[in-house]
Amino acid sequence: MFSCLLCENETCYISKWCEGCREIKNIMNVYGAVKVNEIVKRVCVRNGEQLNKKIELEKETINKEEDENENKELNDKIKKQINKNNK
Ligand SMILES: [Zn+2]
Repeated sequence: MFSCLLCENETCYISKWCEGCREIKNIMNVYGAVKVNEIVKRVCVRNGEQLNKKIELEKETINKEEDENENKELNDKIKKQINKNNK
């Protein structure tokens, strides 16, 4: 019984890597460790300005989803009312 060699969180009985890290290892085997390292750093490691942009983008997405849900509810109410009127 060992810890996963990559994440060091999961317990591994047979393999050196847990299931999730095995997938990452497979990706590394395809693209190379250097390339995967570059991608992970570029995507996951963010400076303050990038973090703020990401936060703003997330907020916009949440607001858009809320607006869409509100519109859907209104449309459903209107459809119900039209159905009632037609009966
Ligand atoms: Zn792992």
